[in-house]
Amino acid sequence: MSDSKTGEIKTAKSLFKTQNNPSNIVPSKLFLDSRIKFRCHPEVSCFTACCGNIDIILTPYDILRIRKALNLPADEFLLRFTTPLFLEKTDMPGVKLHLDEEGRCPFVTEKGCTIYEHRPTTCRYYPVGMSFFHEAAEEGAASEEFYFLVKEEHCKGHDEEQVMTIREWRKDQGIDESDEMNREWMELVMRRKSFGQQATLSEPAQKIFFMASTDLDKFRSFVMSDSFRDTYEIEQATIDGIAEDDVALMKFSFKYLASSLFGTQDLKIKEEKIRAKSEEMQRTRGDAEKRAEETYRELLKDKEELIAATKKA
Ligand code: SF4
Ligand code: SF4
Repeated sequence: MSDSKTGEIKTAKSLFKTQNNPSNIVPSKLFLDSRIKFRCHPEVSCFTACCGNIDIILTPYDILRIRKALNLPADEFLLRFTTPLFLEKTDMPGVKLHLDEEGRCPFVTEKGCTIYEHRPTTCRYYPVGMSFFHEAAEEGAASEEFYFLVKEEHCKGHDEEQVMTIREWRKDQGIDESDEMNREWMELVMRRKSFGQQATLSEPAQKIFFMASTDLDKFRSFVMSDSFRDTYEIEQATIDGIAEDDVALMKFSFKYLASSLFGTQDLKIKEEKIRAKSEEMQRTRGDAEKRAEETYRELLKDKEELIAATKKA
């Protein structure tokens, strides 16, 4: 949230945990043209105080952006800098930044954030939080988006004189770009949240969600495999695009997850695969019916033999 290149950030409320400390939430709804009085910069007495003891959930774009900046493959970044968890109120697995033994972010130094240009979306938002209510699980259902301010005792940025609208804050912090990149993935998570505990993702589905959301290197191998391309209708231009372009691959992963978790038509299974599956199901059902009929005939025969034996006696 700082306006400096080395500034800091952090929040006790991540995008997914707005209720961590509700007493620090200023109880009024804010919208894009609402004004906030706040400024964070290296001269504040609390500089970097907020970069610890917090859950910083990483979105797929956060992971991609940070690991690219660090020049690390996805698996190494995940191993060194993250901890797995379930996204709040869902059965969807994700990751958060792994804090050091003192509870500090691995990227904070006395001079500020060492990955400031590439910092996570949660860090960009602070001290602003966003609430997004989706009224139903269906696509296109009504939704409401509003903001709120988090005012924590230790954060002296609220004593500064700078005033900005939420819209200006979003632009200043690069939130618009982050949100646009993460939008489809966030919608998946929100949609899943709206299901509550009614349904549980199968273990294979959780693994696929985790891989696609956190490890694009693995997801690329998965998509490029013969079995994936034999199963789904994918244009060659799409394959060519995602072979080299990580952002295109990430966006493709969102469509894949939407179709496999929620049955959207973003990605279609090939007709011949559907036909083969349907024939297999019919064959299986035919076999089951045949076995049931044989069992019935055997029981009938046993019963007739029993009746005959009883009459003789
Ligand atoms: S990523 Fe940067 S801004 Fe975010 S908590 Fe760590 S040091 Fe602070
Ligand atoms: S506590 Fe507030 S003012 Fe201090 S560094 Fe963090 S965001 Fe900036």
